[in-house]
Amino acid sequence: MKIIKFGGYSLKNGNGIENVISILQNKLKNREKIYIVLSARGNTTDQLEFFLEEAKNGNDYADEWEKFKAYQVEPLASINFKKEFQLLEDIFQGIRLTKDYSSKVKDLVLAQGEILATQLVAEILNSKGFKSNAVDSRLFLKTDSTYGNAIINDTISEQKTINFFHSLDKESTPIITGFISSNKQNETTTLGRNGSNYSASLIANYLNAEEIQSYTHINGIYTANPTLVNNAKIIEQINYTEAHELASFGASILHVKTIAPLVEKNIPLRILNSFNRNNKGTLINNNGIKGGIKSISIQEEIGLINIEVKGLLGKKGIDARIFTSLSNQNISIGIISQGSSERGVSFVVPEKQLSLAKEVLLNEFKYEILIKDIHSIKSLEDVSVVTIVGQNISEFSPSLDYLNQNKVSVLLINNTISGNNISLVLQNKDVKKSVNIIHSQIFGITKNINIAIFGKGTVGSSLINQILASRDKILDKKETNLNIFAIIGSKKVLFNKDGIMKNWESDYDNSEESTNSINEVIQYAKKHHLENLIAIDNTASSEFVDNYIPLMESSFDLISSNKIANTQDYSKYRELRKSIKSNNKQYLYETNVGAGLPIIDTIRILHESGENITRIRGVFSGSLSYLFNQFSSSDKPFSYFLQNATKLGFTEPDPREDLCGNDVARKLLILARELDLENEFDEIEIENLIPEDLRDGDSQTFLNKIYEIDPYYQTIKDNLKKNQVLRYVGDLSGNLQESKGNLTVKLASIPSDSAIGSLKGSDSIFEIYTDSYGENPITIIGAGAGAEVTARGVFGDLLRIADKK
Ligand code: ASP
Ligand code: MG
Repeated sequence: MKIIKFGGYSLKNGNGIENVISILQNKLKNREKIYIVLSARGNTTDQLEFFLEEAKNGNDYADEWEKFKAYQVEPLASINFKKEFQLLEDIFQGIRLTKDYSSKVKDLVLAQGEILATQLVAEILNSKGFKSNAVDSRLFLKTDSTYGNAIINDTISEQKTINFFHSLDKESTPIITGFISSNKQNETTTLGRNGSNYSASLIANYLNAEEIQSYTHINGIYTANPTLVNNAKIIEQINYTEAHELASFGASILHVKTIAPLVEKNIPLRILNSFNRNNKGTLINNNGIKGGIKSISIQEEIGLINIEVKGLLGKKGIDARIFTSLSNQNISIGIISQGSSERGVSFVVPEKQLSLAKEVLLNEFKYEILIKDIHSIKSLEDVSVVTIVGQNISEFSPSLDYLNQNKVSVLLINNTISGNNISLVLQNKDVKKSVNIIHSQIFGITKNINIAIFGKGTVGSSLINQILASRDKILDKKETNLNIFAIIGSKKVLFNKDGIMKNWESDYDNSEESTNSINEVIQYAKKHHLENLIAIDNTASSEFVDNYIPLMESSFDLISSNKIANTQDYSKYRELRKSIKSNNKQYLYETNVGAGLPIIDTIRILHESGENITRIRGVFSGSLSYLFNQFSSSDKPFSYFLQNATKLGFTEPDPREDLCGNDVARKLLILARELDLENEFDEIEIENLIPEDLRDGDSQTFLNKIYEIDPYYQTIKDNLKKNQVLRYVGDLSGNLQESKGNLTVKLASIPSDSAIGSLKGSDSIFEIYTDSYGENPITIIGAGAGAEVTARGVFGDLLRIADKK
């Protein structure tokens, strides 16, 4: 014989009850020997609780009551529930008068939900020609009188159950109430909310069933709640012990007591989905891989009590008084944690008992509070307990780091309750994010990197398109989901928590105007519990860098192609560095110098590994490289190349921004600061390439008389020695062990056969001189400018941070 159990949701009107009937019809047609256990349909139990309260408070609930009755008979209009409805109405009437009800009355009321369900299903089956009868489990499941959570008397129940079913018509299928039972006086008791599973497993045990099939509305036991964690996976098989642990830590599809009766007789339990009949579900039995299962469960509606102790060092008996006083009020205590110095005790209680618990303790420790031995007793609501079943503390420590990086504060942590489980007490607002982080840590499944991109100019939009183009491949190869959740332009913000799509440009145009985008982005990330946040600054804005610290404080790592943050006053530069450290964040900006070329990274690695860098020299600007490479090897005038470069977009629209040398100087300063030098921008000696009489006026005026620049450069070129060429060179020299170096940016004459002298096209070159490399510098040459290569470089930074998540 098999026991088939259906949960409340499976029995709901419409496709619920229809599926149930069809599952049962199939089994009965195949002549399977089955006993059926039901819980109340849909929300019936909750609703009955609601009516009790409404009656007690004298409220009017006539409409709801009519709906309730209509719901119960909906699948079979001919069914007669007059007696059951009358019983409930009479009880509610009594409660209305006395303005209260006992837990005994409550059990009697709640029991009607299961009674109604079994009668309905029995009648439907009978009407379809399958002989069946409703069975009231109060006739044989006997308990003590702990209403609401009664303790079963195994010996009596077993005997009564065997006798009852022995005398039952063998041709008829029993449809048995779950959840309900009775005491010695035959008064109704219940086995605790969600207790129908437990009823099923008790009956299975007493009658030696082959197995239990427990139909629910989910596909089985998951590695985490799939509504919170997208990548949660079904656990196909799990052993009794692990299932029991899961049940104890809040997996509500299993009542905690369900497993024990099954273990004794080695009866397998299958969790199935009545709405998805092809799925195999989760099998709980003896053979589940031992210790192989890991799962995350969440207990909600928890409150935290924190007792801060001052003068109790070494005093005995405080703990005992805490727990005795609470248990006298039937308050159950969860996770407990005590500081090693005994300066505080914290623990969790059910949220509905939180204020009572606090009151009890304030009263118990009145005297200690008065003499200030106890500093305070505080309560905190809106917390949850997240338990990782099957993991020990040492395996868990990487997750803890990640939680930390994501600014989750763990209120309590405990690994001693039983076996290999770790429980964390967290604020509700952190739960979703944390569970996702822990889940991807444990299962190595896809980690989500949530990216906000500020600036949608040429670099910004190239980057967005590059990310979108590679997203699937990276997801596949690295199991990393690069999710752009926000694009922020100068006036608007485009949000999509699941990642913006290929048509982002038109979506952006259609999005709302925004006045405080930074704040909106931070709030959006919070609201949607996004983890692994990265902000990318592709603006050229000097105001925007003021947002770096607030972003880091809200848990964003940073990447920028914007150079401002690294070239502002040294004191501000320091402040940013400190904040990176204290917030445990990363800040990468490889593209600040030489675009995608690995300049910063190389210098950083050399410097951090203790290599003494003695000089850095090179041509750092793509546009100036182009100008002087061409000009030096041709007879054409300087303005010819300048005009060309401007037309090709190699320079800024006003080429004087390149010619003034500031951009090269900024790059040089950034490199200097990588070596811990404390130079300021105004200490750099910069040769401005614009002749003085051409510096004023707007860009058009300048472009109109651009040829006036020619005599100036012709003279310089004519004065060059043989085999020398012109290059605009940045040079960092001096004693770089001191706090400041010499920074110069100059037009220099360079031997044409040297590395710098033989530079081609618009390439950049960087020569890094170090002690170990002596006269032969490490040289990096390549395209050091352009939106596409810069975006690639930013992408590189993004992957570097993502890899460490
Ligand atoms: N109907 C009861 C409840 O809602 C028992 C169950 O569903 O298992 O708690
Ligand atoms: Mg670079």
